[in-house]
Amino acid sequence: VRAEIISIGSEFLLGDSSDTNGELAARELARLGIETVRRTSVGDSVDLVAEAVAEAARRARLVITIGGLGPTPDDPTREALARWAGVELEIDPESKERIEEFLRRRNRQPPEGVFGQARLPRGAEALPNDAGTAPGVYFKVGDTIAASLPGPPGEFAPMLKGVLIPRLRRDLGETGRVIVTRVLHTAGRPEMSLMEDIGDILSDGNPSVVLLASPGTVKIKITTAQNDSVTADRAIAEVESRIRDRVGSHIFGIDDETLEKRVIEELIGLKATAASAESVTGGLVSNRLTDVPGSSKAFLGGVCGYTELVKKGILKVSDSDLAEFGAVSEQVTQSMARGIKEITGADYGIATTGLAGPERNGSKYPVGTCFVSLSRSEDTRCERHLFAGSRRDVKWRASQAALVLLWQTLRDARRQG
Ligand code: ATP
Ligand code: MG
Repeated sequence: VRAEIISIGSEFLLGDSSDTNGELAARELARLGIETVRRTSVGDSVDLVAEAVAEAARRARLVITIGGLGPTPDDPTREALARWAGVELEIDPESKERIEEFLRRRNRQPPEGVFGQARLPRGAEALPNDAGTAPGVYFKVGDTIAASLPGPPGEFAPMLKGVLIPRLRRDLGETGRVIVTRVLHTAGRPEMSLMEDIGDILSDGNPSVVLLASPGTVKIKITTAQNDSVTADRAIAEVESRIRDRVGSHIFGIDDETLEKRVIEELIGLKATAASAESVTGGLVSNRLTDVPGSSKAFLGGVCGYTELVKKGILKVSDSDLAEFGAVSEQVTQSMARGIKEITGADYGIATTGLAGPERNGSKYPVGTCFVSLSRSEDTRCERHLFAGSRRDVKWRASQAALVLLWQTLRDARRQG
C-alpha cells in the first residue's frame, strides 16, 4: 500500500517549523509495510488542501493530512475533505459530546467555534482525541482512505499510535514489506572505537546496521524489511544481541529512551540520590533530569553556581582554589561536586565548569574546555573535555558529559552489586 502525507500550515512553507509529525507518521506507516511515496506541505486554505488531497488520492491508496483541524474558520481540513468527496459537513453528535465532556472535566467554557470541530464530512468517522477537542477524521471514499489528525504534537502522536495505526492495521492488514527500525543509543565511546568494535556487523544489507554520530552520543541504527512483523522483530533481535555482546555496556537505551531517563532509573534501582552544581551548563543537567517523570525520587535538586559569588557563598569553594586554579579548573569543579553533595546529603554530587565562549575570559584553557566532576562518598572524579561548536553546543555537550559520567558510575555500581 502506498501513502502520501500532507502537512497543512504555512509555518512549514515559511520555514518556521519542521514537519516532525510527518516524519513520525512515515516511520510508523513503514512498520506496517505502508510505503510513503510523497510528503507535501500546503498552506492553510480549503482550495489548496482539497486539491492536494485529490491529487494524492489519485496516486496513493492512503492519504494522511496533519493539522488544520482547529476551531477557527481558517482551519481548512474538514471543509477540504468534504469538498474533495463532494459531500456536506454535518455535526457528529458523539464528537460534540466528547468535546463537551473534555471541556467540562477541565472546567472550561466552550471557546468560540469549538463545536465546529464536531462537524465531519458525511460518511466520515471521527477518531477520538483524548488530549484535545479536535477529533480526527477517518474517511473512506471509493478505494481511498483519507485520515486527518490534529497538528499539535501532543495530540498527534498519541492519536497516530493509539488510534490510527491500529485502525489501519485492521483495515489494511500488514501488506507488503514491513520495515522495522531499532536504535541503540550509546555514549562514552567515540564513533571510531565503536567502528572497531562492531565494524564487521555494520552492513547496508537487510538488516542494515549503521552508525549515526551526534554531539555526545552515537546511535547504532538497525533496519530490516521483512514480510511480516514477527520475522522483522526476530531479525532485529538477532543483530541487536550480537551488538550487545560486544558493546552492551556502552548502550544506555533504545529507540526514544534518553540518557537522563536511564540515569534516573539507575539511581532509583540503587536507592541512591544525586544533586548538581552547574556553572557552564547553567542548569541544563537539572533540566534534563527533571524531564523524566518520577525524577523527584532520585534527583534532589541543584545550584546554578555561575559566578564566584555562588561558588564561594553557597557551594563553599575556597578563595584560594579560585585564585590559584581559576573558576574553570579541575580543583574548583571537584570542590563544587563535593559542596553540593554535602549541602544536600545526596549520594552523588555532579558539577560542571567550562568556557562556552566565544571569549576565553583570561583562562589558560581554550574555548570549549569543560570539566565535569562526580563526587561519591570519599571519592571525587573529574574529566576534562574540549568541545567544539556554539555556546549552546558546548553547554549541551557538557551536560551530556556530566550525565554520561554519572550513568557510567551508577552502571558500574550496580554491576558490583
Ligand atoms: P488546533 O486545534 O491547535 O488549531 P490544528 O489541527 O488546527 O490544531 P494546527 O493549527 O495546524 O493544528 O497546528 C497546531 C500546532 O501544531 C502548531 O503549533 C503547529 O506548529 C503544530 N504542528 C502542526 N502540524 C505539525 C506537523 N506536521 N509537525 C509538527 N508540528 C506540527
Ligand atoms: Mg489550527
